[in-house]
Parts: sequence; C-alpha cells; structure tokens
Amino acid sequence: MDGSSELWQFASHYLPGGVCAAARPHKGIGHPVYMSRGQGSRLYDVDGNEYVDMCISFGAALLGHGHPKVAEAVQSALDMGIMCASETEWHGMLGRRLAEVIPCIEMVRYTMSGTEATYYAIKLAREYTDRTLVLKFEGHFHGFNDYLAYNYWPAPEDAWPKVTPAVQALPEYLKEGVIVLPFNDFERVEEIMAERGHEIAAVILEPVNFNSGAIRPQPGFLELLRRLTREQGSLLIFDEILSGFRTEIGCMQATYGVTPDLCTLGKAIGGGVPLSVFGGAREIMQHVSPVGRAQHSGTFNGNLLAIMAAHAALDVMQEKSFFEDLVARCDRLYAGINEIMSRIGFVGRVQGQGAQFAFLFGPPAQRELLRWEDLMDNHWSLLAQFYKACLERGIYFHTAQHHGISSAHADADIDLVLEGIESALKYVMSLGPIELSPAPGFF
Ligand code: PMP
Repeated sequence: MDGSSELWQFASHYLPGGVCAAARPHKGIGHPVYMSRGQGSRLYDVDGNEYVDMCISFGAALLGHGHPKVAEAVQSALDMGIMCASETEWHGMLGRRLAEVIPCIEMVRYTMSGTEATYYAIKLAREYTDRTLVLKFEGHFHGFNDYLAYNYWPAPEDAWPKVTPAVQALPEYLKEGVIVLPFNDFERVEEIMAERGHEIAAVILEPVNFNSGAIRPQPGFLELLRRLTREQGSLLIFDEILSGFRTEIGCMQATYGVTPDLCTLGKAIGGGVPLSVFGGAREIMQHVSPVGRAQHSGTFNGNLLAIMAAHAALDVMQEKSFFEDLVARCDRLYAGINEIMSRIGFVGRVQGQGAQFAFLFGPPAQRELLRWEDLMDNHWSLLAQFYKACLERGIYFHTAQHHGISSAHADADIDLVLEGIESALKYVMSLGPIELSPAPGFF
C-alpha cells in the first residue's frame, strides 16, 4: 500500500473521511494525496513523488509554496511573540494598502476564512439596509455560510427554479431569506429587481464564476446589477475570495470596471496563511460594530501571522510586471491545452481568466458558458480519470472545479504540464467512448 493510502486509513479513525475539509479527497483516487512539503510550484508527497502543483491550495498559493518574503513576514510575526487578539500598527496599514489598490474598498475588517467573510458581509448588508432578502446566483459558491448555501451545483432535478439547500439540516425558514437566479439572465434579474428589489438587502456573486467552469459575466451584466441595486437601495457584493488577484492588483472589479459596494477577499491575500477580508465603502463599513450594530468580533480576527503575510503578499504582487508575467504564462498554458485537444481530436477545452481555469470535457466545450446549467453535462467522471492520469504523470490537479497557476510557475513548468496533459488525454481517450456522468456534488 502506498503512503497516502496508509495515512488515509489512519486519519480516517480520527477525522471524518480522513480529512479536515470535505473538498479535500481526490476523486480520481478516492482519498487525498498526503503531502510532505511544498516548494515554489512543486508539491512532494509522502512517497517522495514530485508534482507540478496546479491546485495551488485551491487558490491560496498564488505566490507558490514557501515564498521567501512570506516566510520572512511570518517570522517577523513570530518574533513579535505570536500575539493574537492585539491591535498593532500593521493592521490599519494593511487596510490602507487595500484601500489604495481595490476600487470599492475604503475600510476593511479581517476574518479567517472565506465562509466567515461572506457571512459577515451579508450580515452587514442586512443591518445597513434593514432588509433581509439576498439574491444569489446558481453555481456561485460563497463558502458554507448557511445564508447562502443554496444551489451551489445542483443536479438537474434540483436546479433553478427550485431553491435547493447545498447542505443538510438547514432550517426551512432560512430559505425565505434567499432568492436564486441563473447567472447572466438579464431579464430575470430585471424582473425580480422590479418586483422585490425594495426587499433585497444585497445581490452577491462571484464576478467571474470560477466555482462553475470560470463562467464570465456577459458584457453589461455587472453594469446592470450595479444600476439596479443602486436604484433599489440594495448593496452589490462581489465575492472575490477566489477571483481576487487573478488578473490584477485591483481584482476583477478593476478588470471589469464595475465597483461594488462591498467585496470579500481571501485565499491569495494571505500568501498561504489564513486571512479573509470584507470591505467597502466607508459609509457602509461604519455600520460594523463597535461603531455600528452589525456585529463582527473574534479572538483570531486580524491574526498577526496573516496580517504580516498579507503585507508581504502585496509587496510581491506589486512588484513590476507581476501580473503581466503571470497572465502571459496562463494564456500560454490555455492556448497550449486547447491546441493539444484540437490536434488529438479530444472534445474539450479549457476556460480561464487570469490565473484560474477549468476544464470542459464533452458538450460544454462546444457551447458558450453562461450559467451552471451549461456545465451540468460536463464529463465529470472522465475528468476524475484524467486528473488521476495527470497525477501519475507528476501533475497535481485536484478534482475540484477550479485550477490555478502561481507566480512560481516558470515556463519550464508550463511545458511539463502541457506534456503531462497531452499524455493523460491520450490515455483517457484510449479508455473508450465517453459516458455521461451525473452532476458532481463536490462536498
Ligand atoms: N467564496 C468563494 C468564491 C470561494 O471560492 C470560496 C472557497 N472556494 C469561499 C467563498 C469560501 O472560502 P473558505 O474556503 O476560505 O471558507
């Protein structure tokens, strides 16, 4: 038995499913690959196998693993005494730096995870507007915050217009606080905002829906949301936990030129250390406690390890041509994958924007993706086999929907990944005709 299988059996006695997060098992092999260390673009498993990492910690390792500047910053926090629950000069300064680069941010609060950030953003919107309803989009994931845990990746029979909890044991009454619509549906959004806009506290979305195949907003869609929320006095919230820092320092709101009222950040901002942020216009943020009544507190909020790491992450991301280089490398990878697929006659394509992307296998590859419905018949089981084949070729794709590239990925890494992908695709093609598989249910 290999080391990962053994460790999984051991961990399963003490951790449900042998894991600390439901998304962590690799569907291609049925359990996680247990890692011993990471360095730059590489991960090393407990059996000594080396992988080019294309999961990049589900988006958190945008700078690669163990970036020396992040390590140095974490060391400085250790030197200050691993203080937590104390305010320091570094907290406000990080707020100022975020306000300088991210269009919607004038003030911020720090939390530990994306789930918390979206939870507090919704609470704040409800307090600020004195309304309870929230409008979200099918296929958009906002963490396991019960307020928003509906229609993440529903199977066809549970999909919109049904409102389906994405987790078990949610009280039925919570459903009354949420409206779900298909992404990029201009007409339905206009309709709902006209009918119920006056009841809606917030419209929340991933500006690019990376959690469902990197679906882009149609031209004018974000602008429409901006206009309608303004007209109705609802807040517009961009959940940039995953989309943030994939294209430029100002995040997707800068890339698309639409400024929301609030946004959430996470993953990349901490350079691999747990940090998330909700922030936005001063007038709204002044409603957060203790100034206002939207409660937000927590022992570990603004943990110094993460604050220092975030300063370092921003330093690195603000280096000259950081994003130009990163995005150019991503585009080379995407063009390379698409070229391989068409050359070997594989029905598929890659869809990405900036440093995050997804694979489309089968019918979705042949259509323009507008919403989750367009991705439902992706060949999920074939994808899992493909990821397994990649693993065997030294390329670590996780079976979650989104993959990423870090600034530590050099051109040589991209070459290796392209080689591995070509070989893995040829292997899965040799398995015979593709069979349709049900919707994924990631967790
Ligand atoms: N929002 C988005 C858009 C996400 O992609 C994620 C995580 N994938 C979350 C929220 C939740 O973040 P976390 O896992 O840190 O709770």
